[in-house]
Amino acid sequence: MHAMHAPALRGASLASSLKASAPRARVSRPVRSTIRADAQVIDGKAIAADVREEVRLAVAAMKEKTGGKVPGLAVVLVGDRKDSETYVRSKKKACEEAGIQSFGTDLPGDATEDEVLAVVQAYNADPDVHGILVQLPMPDHIDEERVLGAIDYEKDVDGFHPLNIGRLSQRGREPLFVPCTPRGCIELLERTGVPIAGKEAVVVGRSNVVGTPAALLLQRRDATVTIVHSKTPNSEEIVRRADIVIAACGRMEMVKGSWIKPGAAVIDVGINAKDDPSKKHGYRLVGDADYEECSKVAGYITPVPGGVGPMTIAILLQNTLEGATRAYGLK
Ligand code: NAP
Repeated sequence: MHAMHAPALRGASLASSLKASAPRARVSRPVRSTIRADAQVIDGKAIAADVREEVRLAVAAMKEKTGGKVPGLAVVLVGDRKDSETYVRSKKKACEEAGIQSFGTDLPGDATEDEVLAVVQAYNADPDVHGILVQLPMPDHIDEERVLGAIDYEKDVDGFHPLNIGRLSQRGREPLFVPCTPRGCIELLERTGVPIAGKEAVVVGRSNVVGTPAALLLQRRDATVTIVHSKTPNSEEIVRRADIVIAACGRMEMVKGSWIKPGAAVIDVGINAKDDPSKKHGYRLVGDADYEECSKVAGYITPVPGGVGPMTIAILLQNTLEGATRAYGLK
């Protein structure tokens, strides 16, 4: 049984590592027009590669220091959704490349909730596993909240456990883990050198997975944060005030250039398939912001693909490493 309250210092390494991320310019500047400067494109692929290399080096150092111990990540997949299978495969491959041991359990789509819970409990008890990730969405007959709540919060690499989210939302408290995609958004801003403290940030979307934790992270870094959602009557007007916009509404290209304050940083979390007969599969991926328009007004922008997407897995590896570092008492 794990204690409900971890010692105050437990999350300190996460906090310091988040703050310690050295601002490093990983931006590529497209050809400028003669009339106005286009946004600097934040290269998420390159920044994610940096993070993954840092993790790989830290894992190698851990192995050396502990006489062979490495971090372990367990991924639980229920059902046979093709997109989920692809995500799980790429997570396992990324683990291998970083030297992280990967564990996995694939359950059929008709597995019972008790069966899923039994797998989670087994990984909770396994000392070689430092991170447990249940791939979402799960089939409808399984209570997602119950399963996510059953993950030991000290192994909650996705950061969705109520205790970790609760601590994220409280002043003076430190979560053990922060959700990967929102943490990836912050890393992109920090490593690009975009100032956050004292700035006005607007998050478009309030999901538990992206919008809400992204807003909490920005607030913890002293931005003044507004969240807009589907019931906000004047999103456009509010977004136009923002120095930093996080677009996470799941609506293809909804955030237009006219919504953006000149020079603002636009972090586009969206992944949508847009019909494009010129492409082999008949579509291409676009974000929740209209890249063509926004890139002409913004100061910084993430492309889709190649922006936030690659960061999610990189941060998952970083979270797993931090879980193992705590478990082995190395910090
Ligand atoms: P979600 O659960 O569908 O949440 C969407 C949010 O956007 C909701 O809070 C919704 O408001 C809000 N919204 C919907 N229509 C809106 C409108 N017209 N104006 C303002 N807000 C509106 O989506 P999600 O899981 O947060 O994901 C958001 C996007 O990120 C999606 O495109 C998804 O594919 C992508 N994503 C990418 C990654 C990655 O690794 N890059 C990871 C996760 C998600 P209500 O709360 O009022 O319904």
